[in-house]
Amino acid sequence: MLAVELAVGESEAMLPARSAQAIGIEPGHVLGLSIARRALDARRRGRRSLLKFVYHVDLELSASLRSPALDRALRAGRARIVPPPARFALEDVPSEVRARRVAVVGSGPAGLYAAWCLAANGVAVDLIERGPALRERSRAVSRFTRTRELDPEANLLFGEGGAGTYSDGKLYTRTTHALEAPILETLVEAGAPPEIRFDARAHVGTDRLHRILPALRSRLEAMGVRFHFGTRLEGLVLAQSGETASPRHVRALRTTQGEIPCDAVFLALGHSARDTIAALAAEGLAVEAKPFQIGLRIEHPQALVDAGRYGEARDPARLGHAYYALVAKPRSEGALGVHSFCMCPGGQVVAAVAQPGLLCTNGMSNSRHSSPFANSGLVVTLGPKEYGGDVFDGWRLQERLEAAFFTAGGGDYHVPAQRVPDFLAGRESASLPRGSCKLGQTPARIDALLPETMTAALRDAIRRFDGEIPGYAGEEGLLVGIESRSSGPLRMTRDPVARHSLAFENVYPVGEGAGHAGGIMSAAIDGARSAWAFLGRPD
Ligand SMILES: Cc1cc2nc3c(=O)[nH]c(=O)nc-3n(C[C@H](O)[C@H](O)[C@H](O)COP(=O)(O)OP(=O)(O)OC[C@H]3O[C@@H](n4cnc5c(N)ncnc54)[C@H](O)[C@@H]3O)c2cc1C
Repeated sequence: MLAVELAVGESEAMLPARSAQAIGIEPGHVLGLSIARRALDARRRGRRSLLKFVYHVDLELSASLRSPALDRALRAGRARIVPPPARFALEDVPSEVRARRVAVVGSGPAGLYAAWCLAANGVAVDLIERGPALRERSRAVSRFTRTRELDPEANLLFGEGGAGTYSDGKLYTRTTHALEAPILETLVEAGAPPEIRFDARAHVGTDRLHRILPALRSRLEAMGVRFHFGTRLEGLVLAQSGETASPRHVRALRTTQGEIPCDAVFLALGHSARDTIAALAAEGLAVEAKPFQIGLRIEHPQALVDAGRYGEARDPARLGHAYYALVAKPRSEGALGVHSFCMCPGGQVVAAVAQPGLLCTNGMSNSRHSSPFANSGLVVTLGPKEYGGDVFDGWRLQERLEAAFFTAGGGDYHVPAQRVPDFLAGRESASLPRGSCKLGQTPARIDALLPETMTAALRDAIRRFDGEIPGYAGEEGLLVGIESRSSGPLRMTRDPVARHSLAFENVYPVGEGAGHAGGIMSAAIDGARSAWAFLGRPD
């Protein structure tokens, strides 16, 4: 793999020649080339934005080819030998492991890819999901937008595909793992665009996700996975003493549809199944408090962000709509840092809630990023020391703020909103700019709803971000909230190698709800890695 650059406007057809030049060989010696990663570098140098594409390319070269420039690039780390791609299926899985029946709870990315990896190795899987299959779920979501009646079991968080089903479908992650490639391959085979294999800002969008998920389900069913929709896990049935070597062994699940026997269980519950996680913790599942992110969502016209990032070179048709990832480090001891999170170009703000009486915002978009708005979470990280001493204090803080924002919005899922200059000055907005949230927005003093340290950190960060994207702190900016579930405040502790729970030898907590992932791809990888560990290949 080798890094090369192309200026905006230069054709990808130049990549073989540019790559050959970089390692001092003739273009004719490049037997094959594939793009491993493509990123648009939109960083600014002062007021100038020097746009360029940075590629990582995999070159096929003859094993006998010798080039001092290639040797130097390999030694300096500018090039590396690419290992063969990983596959889900492992060799030498013991037959007694293959013969086990596994229950996977949750059909989000962590559950789906745990199930995929297990089934690809011949293990029988029951996939249990409290919400409905996609078609019924979509009807419930449309009904919520129309009537504001929230179905606690079928919403933006619960149902086939999990929390990411209504999202931007961003597929990039800070986790790098060999399983990323085969996971992306399943998505391409199910209808995702092939560029997701290498695009540093790969996204699929809600519309495409809704075509991909049924295709994934068909593949899983063909591999023998049995789906149980509308089936909620309520508790664990432990083996009686003498039945197994260990008393901390689960032999069945207690669900709303009766007992489901299993030899092992994967908990891929997501971070919003507070009822289930509390019930399991009461039954002895080991959980600990962890840092989590909380803040607001900020929205601007997409054109303002495109102008700020691309400058005069802006041409969304060629470059796509601009994205940003901004960080404001704390300026003093005790202050909070702020970073942007889950930025959705051309997206819309949504209320991602499962419990009536609470409000939590997030962002989603379609594959074309076609809305005229750009939105992003702006969050601080709170550690257990900042939010309390008890393991459930993080949840309590989330719920207190989610209830306050629900009430401030009028108690019917309008999102409370404040223009950015009014948030900075601490006054209610006399009027609001047009926003993307289909549930509507209501003027509110959201600066006063947050703890003071958070408001102070957000004000400071927004002023600093205005230096990077002119107009960020201006009249066209709108703040809504609360953005409380970017990550969960609990971690289900597990053995670092065998990856089973520290409390139960055959329970595998995976994904975001277990506190081991923070997005679609990281959750999918976490689920598949734990499946590998279960099959006897810890990594
Ligand atoms: C609106 C929105 C937009 C997002 N956008 C992005 C994005 O663009 N990119 C990105 O990387 N991440 C995004 N995320 C975050 C991403 O969706 C999550 O990180 C990811 O889905 C976590 O995967 P998971 O499998 O761990 O859990 P989840 O996806 O939350 O899945 C958990 C599943 O478990 C089920 N479940 C819960 N309790 C039970 C029970 N008791 N019995 C049976 N089933 C149960 C739930 O119904 C759910 O389907 C977004 C999230 C939201 C809400």
